[in-house]
Amino acid sequence: MADIIKLLPDHVANQIAAGEVVQRPASVVKELLENAIDAGATRIKLIVKGGGKILIQVVDNGVGMSTTDARLSFERHATSKIQSAEDLFNLNTKGFRGEALASIAAIAHVELQTKTEDEEVGTAIHIEGSTIISQEVVVTPKGTSIAVKHLFFNIPARRNFLKSDSVELRHITDEFHRVSLAHPAVAFHYYNNGNELFNLPSSNFRHRIVNIFGKKTNEKLVPVEEETQVVTISGFITKPEFAKKSRGEQYFFVNNRFVKSPYLHHAVLAAFEGLIKPGAHPGYFLTLAVDPASIDINIHPTKTEIKFDDEQTLYAILRSTIKHSLGQFNVAPTLDFEHDNNLETPYDYRNKSAVIPKVEVDASFNPFADEKLDVSRSRQNSGVPNYKKQSSQSWEGLYVENTPEVSGMPNFDGLSFESDVSTGSIFEDEKGNLDAAAITFQLRRKYIITTIKSGMVVIDQGRAHQRVLYERFLRSVTLNEGVSQQLLFPIQLSFSSSEIAILEEIKDNLSTMGFVFGEISTAMVEINGVPPLVAEAEVVSIFDELMADCQQNVGGDGFSQADVLSKALCKSLAVKTGDVLDVISQAALVNDLFACTESILSPFNKPIYITITENDIDKKFI
Ligand code: ADP
Ligand code: MG
Repeated sequence: MADIIKLLPDHVANQIAAGEVVQRPASVVKELLENAIDAGATRIKLIVKGGGKILIQVVDNGVGMSTTDARLSFERHATSKIQSAEDLFNLNTKGFRGEALASIAAIAHVELQTKTEDEEVGTAIHIEGSTIISQEVVVTPKGTSIAVKHLFFNIPARRNFLKSDSVELRHITDEFHRVSLAHPAVAFHYYNNGNELFNLPSSNFRHRIVNIFGKKTNEKLVPVEEETQVVTISGFITKPEFAKKSRGEQYFFVNNRFVKSPYLHHAVLAAFEGLIKPGAHPGYFLTLAVDPASIDINIHPTKTEIKFDDEQTLYAILRSTIKHSLGQFNVAPTLDFEHDNNLETPYDYRNKSAVIPKVEVDASFNPFADEKLDVSRSRQNSGVPNYKKQSSQSWEGLYVENTPEVSGMPNFDGLSFESDVSTGSIFEDEKGNLDAAAITFQLRRKYIITTIKSGMVVIDQGRAHQRVLYERFLRSVTLNEGVSQQLLFPIQLSFSSSEIAILEEIKDNLSTMGFVFGEISTAMVEINGVPPLVAEAEVVSIFDELMADCQQNVGGDGFSQADVLSKALCKSLAVKTGDVLDVISQAALVNDLFACTESILSPFNKPIYITITENDIDKKFI
């Protein structure tokens, strides 16, 4: 047989390598920013267009490259940062694989301009898909500018895989945060489509955090300092009361490199144990300095994962250092290490029910109130303390049927929603039975049990309520008929600029759901009104969760955005396991559920109820 093995041509090898190094525009941003840092830049400018798909440009005032180096920098395994394998154990630079520029040049149009201190003129190189198009002499200041255009121009499959501009921009911003936090002394400018997103002056770590995440962050930070033989830890954690429902800002930097470490993350959580609600996430910005020989950063091509020689010791040191800071700064009034988490929970629920009456008043508010609503109000006043999210009578009022005549809006009388007629299939001929029976029972604060002709139904209360709320929100967006309730005092929420950017995107849809926005600045949003079923006290946590859910998911067209928002809101607002529902609320929930267009699956595709037939029960008794 003839020989069949061939060496891959360089440009093919580079394209394959690019698959590892460059997943999306944000990966290019990371590599270019890190190269600029390695080049000793003190000022770095990042310019992005079209979510990085049209242009990513990084300009630095670092050491620059000679003409030969400029040309060599695009070769694979060409690096000035290590010379021998031993150097790998003493890394002080971000890069070392010499793959980034070669990979990027294989899958994009790249324009490089660079000049060193002692050269008169610089070098300009233009490459498209590993092919050098031109090389010229240029007049340019000391430093390097690399512009990457039309990413994945020659790999349509990868290009199609990219998300919307706004989602890609968010990934880029995340990367920008990581690099700029790791290097507070370096000044950064960041522009998107011609607008300045960040202008970060050279500063210390604390100022850098505040400059990125907003002034309000300052008061939330608690310093952390510890020096041991193994590791020097410094940085900040956020006070427990500012723990968020979303993962929020959690950063580890090991030797000035952002890393992901589930293990160390766990150490931080362990230190916060008992101080924050279960499921809440503390923020942290922690820098760890360790001996470069004691870590291996080579285990992941994008170098965000790291292997420590002695993880267990690090874990213990980190955990106790943070506990110490929390105690020292009087953040935890009494640090009780034997603290029983479970004791905290019921108290929390007590708190929760304390705000419930408020919600009920909200619930009956409807500018187009009609008889039905009055009925529900009097019913609620006569002691329905727990089904805080409105009975079916009142929420039906939010749907169009009641509104057109009063508001003079187009008449929807002829419109019949599926939900008016449809019931879950198994109830097709049993609905009457279900209503008439109206016997419900709450099991373990989690399930509502009710009877049907053929036996019984066990309903997951949380999922059922999610379904009810989800359809309600989706409908108010689709019909642009959300009702809102004016707040007596507008609520001001502070956000980071990237969160504000998300908010700008989702604002219109939220408005149709009943949120009323006042002034929106670069770091603050004023809320003047909320949908009737949102309690004032819940607004902060709801937006917190919304932001978390939207970080990854929003984008795309109006419908998918409405879907994401409705899901996020129904998740925050629905009753949960542990919430006690009285009999009337239970019945209302059951009715509401089976009036839904879809009552079998929750918005998150989980079964809402199961049925147990008499037959099933009989069999058990054999
Ligand atoms: P690595 O960073 O792993 O060495 P790269 O492909 O990212 O590999 O870069 C290759 C080489 O090009 C670097 O080692 C460096 O010498 C040079 N280089 C890249 N970017 C810059 C820059 N902004 N300023 C100066 N030199 C640079
Ligand atoms: Mg590099």
